[in-house]
Amino acid sequence: MQDCVFCKIVERQLPSTVVYEDDKVMAFNDINPVAPVHVIIIPKAHIANVNELTESNASVMGDIHLAAGKIAEKLGVADKGYRLINNCGADAGQTVFHLHYHLIAGVKLGPKII
Ligand code: 5GP
Ligand code: ZN
Repeated sequence: MQDCVFCKIVERQLPSTVVYEDDKVMAFNDINPVAPVHVIIIPKAHIANVNELTESNASVMGDIHLAAGKIAEKLGVADKGYRLINNCGADAGQTVFHLHYHLIAGVKLGPKII
């Protein structure tokens, strides 16, 4: 999608520090990290958020979670633990409308909301 920051990262029109990539998924360091490990995991195809998942594109959720496990292993946080966070829509604080998960780790994380 033309004006989407994460599509531009996929197309290498914007720089990023890529930590994982396969044919369906890409992951890169967040530009404004909130923890020592803060990786954004996205489908390469543009999907705005969970509301746009359909029977035909939902397999990417499995791809994202498989990638998350590999990234956690690669970055050495699989055993100590990490959070995978998805913000869907304005009330949840979503600011980039290209489906993504935050993988956050590397420190004892703060209180859980839920
Ligand atoms: P959201 O608030 O939508 O859940 O998360 C969007 C995330 O994308 C934020 O944590 C923000 O720091 C990150 N972000 C926004 N623009 C860029 C960018 O150009 N490059 C990278 N690496 N991260 C970005
Ligand atoms: Zn996009």
